[in-house]
This record gives sequence, C-alpha cells and structure tokens, in this order.
Amino acid sequence: MTITRYGISRDELGSVLDGQPRYRVDQIWRGLFSEYTSPAEMTNLPKELRAKVDAALPLALEPVTESVSDRGDTIKFLWKLDDDSRIETVLMLYPDRATVCVSTQAGCAMACGFCATGQAGFARHLDSGEIVEQVIRATQRAKAMGRRVSNVVYMGMGEPLANEEPVWSSLVRLHDDCGMSARHLTVSTVGIIPGIRKLASRPLPVNLAVSLHAANDAKRDALVPINKRYPIADLMEACDDYLEAKGRRLSFEWAMIDQLNDQPSDAVELADLCRSRFLPAHVNLIPLNPTPGYPVRGSAKSRVYAFRDQLEALGVNATVRRNRGTDIDAACGQLAAGQGVQINPRRNTQD
Ligand code: SAH
Repeated sequence: MTITRYGISRDELGSVLDGQPRYRVDQIWRGLFSEYTSPAEMTNLPKELRAKVDAALPLALEPVTESVSDRGDTIKFLWKLDDDSRIETVLMLYPDRATVCVSTQAGCAMACGFCATGQAGFARHLDSGEIVEQVIRATQRAKAMGRRVSNVVYMGMGEPLANEEPVWSSLVRLHDDCGMSARHLTVSTVGIIPGIRKLASRPLPVNLAVSLHAANDAKRDALVPINKRYPIADLMEACDDYLEAKGRRLSFEWAMIDQLNDQPSDAVELADLCRSRFLPAHVNLIPLNPTPGYPVRGSAKSRVYAFRDQLEALGVNATVRRNRGTDIDAACGQLAAGQGVQINPRRNTQD
C-alpha cells in the first residue's frame, strides 16, 4: 500500500522522518490532524523539513471541480483518485454547525434504483486515508470561511458497511486524532447486517442511520435489492443489538416516493417498526431527489408533511430533511461524480 498524507500511521511517519527527534513526529501529527495545516504551512518546522514532509506524504485526492449552491451554504467537491476513479464530498454549512458528508466507495454495488450512485455501479473501495482526507480538505475549505466542521456523516457515495474495516479506521482517526466526538459521527447503511454487527463490536458509540424506505419486505425488496439477503425482521434485530451495545439514537432514512411509500398504510407499518425498537427510532423523511435513471417523482410537499404528522400522531419522532444542494446535484442520492447524466447542470465552476 502506498503511503498517503492522511492514511499514514504514526509509526510510518516516524520512519519517513528517520533521524528526526521524536517531538518532530508529534508536531507534524498535530499539524496534519488537529490544526489541518499542510506541511508547507508548518512554520514550526525548518524549511527543508517542510519540503521533505510535503514530498514524502502525497495527497490522495486531486480536485476536479468545486460547485457552490445558489444559497452558498452547500459546497460539493469532485475529486479524482490515483486510479482515475472519481468521488464526491459535500460540505453543508448551517447557522450553528457544519457537516461533511463523505464517500466510502467510488460508486456503489447496492443498486438501489432511485439513487444516482447505485445507478452508476461500483468501481472500488476507498481506503481510510481517502475517507479522512475528504474531511480534512472540506475542513480546510470551511476554515477559510471562518467555520469549523463539527459533524461527519458517512452518507456520500458507496455503502460504508460493505467497506467496514477502512471506514472503522477512518472513524478512529477522526475521533482520536482530529478530536471529533462519537456523537458527531454518523454511519449510514442500506442494512448490511454483518457490517452492523461488526460496527457494534467496535469501541466507539457512533450514530447509526439505516436507509429503510419501506417497512415490509415485498416493498423493500423492490426498492432496496439487498433486502432480499437481509430482510427487515433480521435487520431490526441487528439494529436492536446495536442500540443495546451503544445506547445511541437510531435513525431511519425514508426517501418519499410518490404513491410508492408515502401512503397512510406505509406510515402505520413504519410506526410499528419504530415503536418495537429497544430505543425508539427517529425517522428522517427525505423528499425524493431527482436522478437521471429513475422516472418516479418525489412525494408532493403536502403529502410529506401529512406523513410526518401521521407518524407524530402515532408516537414516532419524524423530521423532514431540507433538500440541500439540489441545484448542484449534491443532495441525498444525487452523487454520481460525473458518471451519470448531469441532472441539473446549472453551476459547475472550475476550482
Ligand atoms: N449506502 C448508504 C450511504 C448512502 S446515504 C445508505 O444507503 O445508507 C444516502 C442516503 O440518501 C440514503 O439514505 C439513500 O437511501 C438516500 N437516497 C438515495 N437516493 C435518493 C434520492 N434520489 N432522493 C433522496 N434520498 C435518496
């Protein structure tokens, strides 16, 4: 494996710096992971050492384009990897916090028909350094605007729990070295049961989000193909075990699709699943975002709110997610890294 700037271990850095005093390793480590500075900016190092570190620790992500939403509060980065595959990262700025949404794979093998990444297919897994670098590069961008990144969501391209090992290493790095608390780290999964169990056995209590979208197997088999392998009853058991191990709130993602999963009977079935949990689950309703390969529309706004109200009346906490970045194809399910047809190519500025 080649060494990259944010994938390197402390021991590897020690070997790269062979002959340098130990405190230099600490200075560089701090510069990289807690101050988010590049080696060239590490003014506490002698100049030659800065150049040496810069050359020895190459970046893994080459910027291709950066798109900014009309409101200026969502920024999407398109990166090229060493093998020429492409991924995207999204930085979302809220009044009180900033969140980075990272990709964990180039493409995705889960083939959910309503998701642009699923439509594009799978290219390869990302390694831990490529995941961490997305956070650091977005953090540097936020820092230039006077903002600090507080949250990381594993909700970009790919299925995190089909790539659990590197995802786990990246979580450890963000927690241990970048100082992010586990409650501000969220892993979203389509419902890979062995991955949920593996993550449950890990020491950090990160939040788990499950992309449910349907509350019975017949419907979910059609929307989320992996449901045939990991059906709802088994998935709910794995979620319960996760919650029991971690004591964290579980959330279910529900993309609202016109007529398909937005009817009163769907809300009743969903509420049953939520209430049977070890801890009650929170539902995030996402009005379906348009993608090139899926003809069905998102639910009308009035239906989305009626569905939310019905869930609340049934005792389930539900939030309607604002669709951020649809004008730059940066919203949920729209990340395709240029592999699909552009859905809404209004603005796409060169970095
Ligand atoms: N593979 C993981 C991580 C991706 S998270 C997962 O499935 O959880 C991206 C979220 O956006 C998932 O909940 C996904 O189901 C949802 N999504 C996909 N396509 C969408 C679309 N067109 N509109 C709204 N949400 C979508």
